[in-house]
Amino acid sequence: MNQPLSRAKLAQPFTLPALPWSADALDPVISRRTIELHHGKHHAAYVEKLNELVAGTGLERLPLHEVVRRTAGEEARTEVFNNAAQALNHAFYWDSLKPQAPKPPETLRQLLDRDLGGYDAFVGDFTKAATAQFGSGWAWLVVNDGKLEIRTTSNAATPIVERLTPLLTVDVWEHAYYLDYQNQREQHVKAVVEQLLNWEFAAENLARA
Ligand code: FE
Repeated sequence: MNQPLSRAKLAQPFTLPALPWSADALDPVISRRTIELHHGKHHAAYVEKLNELVAGTGLERLPLHEVVRRTAGEEARTEVFNNAAQALNHAFYWDSLKPQAPKPPETLRQLLDRDLGGYDAFVGDFTKAATAQFGSGWAWLVVNDGKLEIRTTSNAATPIVERLTPLLTVDVWEHAYYLDYQNQREQHVKAVVEQLLNWEFAAENLARA
């Protein structure tokens, strides 16, 4: 499978990728304060912890997605997996968002029509799935065997360990929205999906699927 298009695969030691826009660029959908905490504290902590955990194990020489794949489902390395997958998921998440986001290009619009009932149905169904994800996790638009699907994962779990190509993701951990929306996850996700999804990034990922 091709690698997800993410700057996070540059590693050794694993580093916190810079945000692709300024911290206040997504305001008012996501505030500067949320972005600064989310990137500068939460994402940074996963990267830092990962570096501690893999030092001297040989894993530190691998690209991040490879660390994620090799530790997935291995009970003894759950902590490594959790931190590696969260480092990767967050890098993918920042790239999934864009201020004044573009609308889906024609190729994706056609796939949304064919597989998910069109763009409007996608917005509704993605928001519903993300809202229904119990506890912490992620909502994803993926390609599965040539077809678009909406998936959710729990905690650090990530579709890159399955035979799926992620196109976009939305973080539904409370740290992603609680300061701005408190318990209103649905409101947050809907605003993100309608206003911030980076369909150009999705199209780049699709081209590699
Ligand atoms: Fe997060």
